[in-house]
Amino acid sequence: MPNRRLTKIIRRKAALWALVALGICAPAHASQTCLPEGSAFPASWSAPYPAFRVIGNLYSVGTAGLSVFLITSDDGHILVNTGLSDSTQQIRKNMTSLGFQLEDVRVLLTTQAHFDHTAAMAEIKALTGAEVWATQKDARVLADGGASDAHFGHCAEFLFEPIEVDRILADGQSFAWGDIEITTHLHPGHTEGSSSYTWRVNEAGSSYRVGIINMGSINDGKRLLIEPTYPGVATDFANTYFRQKNMPLDIWVSSHPEQYNLSQKYSPGQAYDHRTFVDPDGLRAAVEALEQTFLETMATELTDS
Ligand SMILES: [Zn+2]
Repeated sequence: MPNRRLTKIIRRKAALWALVALGICAPAHASQTCLPEGSAFPASWSAPYPAFRVIGNLYSVGTAGLSVFLITSDDGHILVNTGLSDSTQQIRKNMTSLGFQLEDVRVLLTTQAHFDHTAAMAEIKALTGAEVWATQKDARVLADGGASDAHFGHCAEFLFEPIEVDRILADGQSFAWGDIEITTHLHPGHTEGSSSYTWRVNEAGSSYRVGIINMGSINDGKRLLIEPTYPGVATDFANTYFRQKNMPLDIWVSSHPEQYNLSQKYSPGQAYDHRTFVDPDGLRAAVEALEQTFLETMATELTDS
């Protein structure tokens, strides 16, 4: 981006934040952005990736490009996200490699109600009898198979099998799972009900603050201020960045492996060490990068309007 444009953006920063704080938004409008003809979803989303242990009772059982997390307990497990509709067998295989059974999943959570994280959820719910717990606004999108998603709802290739939600999770609400207590954090913006989950893990005599964080990335074509994708979307993103930058976490993982720099932290087959994913400053840096894109996206919208 040319420097002149950057200077302009920086000058506008204060004004942009004022707009966001005031929640100034035009009426909602359905974006028409869908997968362009001839292009495909990333191959990594379907590519296998060996399961691994992050720390304590948190494991990764997803594909190369889509995170699926397993939180185990003696009374059954939680699966966070499911990947694409054809991911079930890969998740099952990964769980088996760790010594766990897909049938022992009792609860299904999601970090965001987009098809690349939820499309196998209806099938896994049917196979396991697990309950689905979700935040209110993502529950609406899960229940209609993505049709009410403000950005992708009109795109056939982004829809998924509707999922019945059994329990609504509120921001800040905690629930016990085995010997841990998991807190839900509403982090809207990427979807209206995007959420993160945190808990403490005691390992090797130390206590670690662990989180599965949904990052506030901005999908192509999303409108923030002028004819926003949904009313209040810019305010949602701004609040989410603020909250996430101030989350005191020792270990954090995200909905996509590259969002938490998996390849820099871990190589497949590497022996388990509870310190592998310790990264207390990484979340703030990752959120700040997204926040910069957010500011530039808003500036471009205003420039082009
Ligand atoms: Zn998404």
